[in-house]
Amino acid sequence: MNNVKRAFKYRFCPTDAQAAELSRTFGCVRKVYNLALAARTEAWTRQERVNYNQTSAMLTAWKKTEELAFLNDVSSVPLQQCLRHLQTAFTNFFGKRAKYPRFKSRKKSRKSAEYTTSGFRFCDGRLTLAKMSDSLDIVWSRPLPEGAKPSTVTVSQDAAGRWFVSLLCDDPTIKPLPDTDAAVGVDVGLDHLLTLSTGEKIANPRHERRDRVALAKAQRRLAKKAKGDGANRCKARRKVAKVYARIADRRRDHLHKLTTRLVRENQTIVIEDLTVRNMVKNRSLARAISDAAWSEFRSLLEYKAQWYGREVIAVDRFFPSSRLCSTCGTLQDKMPLHVRTWTCDCGTTHDRDVNAARNLLAAGRAVSACGAGVRPQRSSPDGQSAMKQEVSRCEM
Ligand SMILES: [Zn+2]
Repeated sequence: MNNVKRAFKYRFCPTDAQAAELSRTFGCVRKVYNLALAARTEAWTRQERVNYNQTSAMLTAWKKTEELAFLNDVSSVPLQQCLRHLQTAFTNFFGKRAKYPRFKSRKKSRKSAEYTTSGFRFCDGRLTLAKMSDSLDIVWSRPLPEGAKPSTVTVSQDAAGRWFVSLLCDDPTIKPLPDTDAAVGVDVGLDHLLTLSTGEKIANPRHERRDRVALAKAQRRLAKKAKGDGANRCKARRKVAKVYARIADRRRDHLHKLTTRLVRENQTIVIEDLTVRNMVKNRSLARAISDAAWSEFRSLLEYKAQWYGREVIAVDRFFPSSRLCSTCGTLQDKMPLHVRTWTCDCGTTHDRDVNAARNLLAAGRAVSACGAGVRPQRSSPDGQSAMKQEVSRCEM
């Protein structure tokens, strides 16, 4: 196994000049991304495809025009990188793994710039970006691995105004764990963050309920501020961002601990494949937060599984994990959301979520037995295709 690449993220405090340079860079990245997306979209309506190399050539041409000459003021590395990201977004779209890429908005989109090795210098623990004379004042909250050399550096500013730098490095300290026979199914829910097939229920992070109330209040306040009411609206928006950042931080911390534990304890972890497409319905606040937690959980789980030589199996979302009795295999006709426990004709009384997690585990085991590395898009333990007719789980 090759060395594992790992991102190390830190906060930093830019000087005024650095903050100005980075804000300029974020703006140019957004501009180039949107121009390239517009060009690709325009081609797409003519049933043509524009690739990365073509957008790269466009960038060179844009820089030579008078109205876009300002693109020359910032490092070209992040501009090239955002074209690569757009390429990835289109590859995912064509592969039906993502929706059509969207334009970046000045207020709502993540502000970030990615630098490859030609765009920064890292020496004696000091990181200096292109077009800057001073190194960044980074808060080294945890050490980089011995002798680590970052291959990519991403600078970002979150909606609450905090600055972050993420360094992608080889981490030679990560080694696969010894094999184990243990396997677990994991179900996602609103009442509980996760339910395991072992019967264990894992609660949402502490304070989340209270933070959600605070978030709803801040959002109501923001909604009341008239559009265009400059300073007040800006302040209200910042407040929403702050509460959201607090929720996200606590959640990430919680999910890191959970995923590390699950990966250490189990060889195989079976989860449900909730796709992005499925997640836009029913945008209640709790739902939105739960969806965000789920996709974060999955990505943490997948990369840690790769580090430690474990397997994550995602079972199709059409698989009726809630309606199937995990003891006898009988399929119930319906299972409304308010039903938390139920008794099957075979006499077994089930906790709804634990039953679902057990079914996921069984389905995952069946998939796994078909051969390592097989991850069918639509899997069900006994191959019943009728199961696809189940309505999306979000509505249950
Ligand atoms: Zn039964």
